[in-house]
Amino acid sequence: MDIANEGLEKQRAKRKRVARMKKMIVYTIIIFMLLTLFVMTFLCIEVFSLQRQINELSSKIGDSHEVIGIEKMADDSTLDNVYRVDNIDNIAEEGDIPKVYLTFDDGPSENSDAILDILDDYNVKATFFVCGKDVETYGDVYRRIVDEGHSIGMHSYSHNYSKIYQSADAFADDFNKIHSLIAETTGVDTKLYRFPGGSSNKVSNTSMSVFIKYLNDHGIVYYDWNIASGDATSKAFSADELVDNVMNDVVKYKTAVVLLHDQADKSTTVEALPRLIEALNNAGVMILPITDDTTIIQHVSVVQ
Ligand code: ZN
Repeated sequence: MDIANEGLEKQRAKRKRVARMKKMIVYTIIIFMLLTLFVMTFLCIEVFSLQRQINELSSKIGDSHEVIGIEKMADDSTLDNVYRVDNIDNIAEEGDIPKVYLTFDDGPSENSDAILDILDDYNVKATFFVCGKDVETYGDVYRRIVDEGHSIGMHSYSHNYSKIYQSADAFADDFNKIHSLIAETTGVDTKLYRFPGGSSNKVSNTSMSVFIKYLNDHGIVYYDWNIASGDATSKAFSADELVDNVMNDVVKYKTAVVLLHDQADKSTTVEALPRLIEALNNAGVMILPITDDTTIIQHVSVVQ
């Protein structure tokens, strides 16, 4: 009898142990699932927040997108003087005198007059891709750019990526505003455009081909750049480094379009400008404003 009881007890104890283990396994699985869910939720929130920060930063730093990873959206443009940045025909050969186009985006700003003064001192003509600013304050700058022989182009009215690139209509509205503003303040019917962020920007949610087609249909030529001075990110480079960034690459090309900025918080650009012009002059290149005859440098283009 005792032996039978003992056996029964053992069996009960074993069953209890098994039940306990089962419970533990179930709890472990539940805890594991909850933890996974928690981590996933946390990561999702992080990703969204980072994405938002990236978007904000992208619109703040303007055209800092590097000329790398160029997306080929379509075949070469039908215009015969359009070069992609990596076009072999634009690589300078022995004896070529590079043509250098200094382009200033985002102005007018508090630095415009200082930039124009320096260009005047060195008798250099540049290209200003301007945005829509208060005409009361900056009307004179728009006019000065034109009066002093520089080329003026559009760089959108609002420079607000999420607005401009929202739709074809939004782009057209913004385009008409900046085109009229320049025409009314300077009398110039400009055909030059530079996309905020460049045509290869990764910020627009709408395909850039929509906007490129709009410009092509309206006889507007857009220019990107094949040399970034690096001044888009505030204070990332010293004035000497900005000069070096340009000089390291400028002699590689027959046509070099240099990206610079005319912005209130970019005094390093102003500081670098005299040194840059002197270095370019010493290198024996031609510094020119963009005109109808300029070789067109584009990151992406679509068939017209
Ligand atoms: Zn810009």
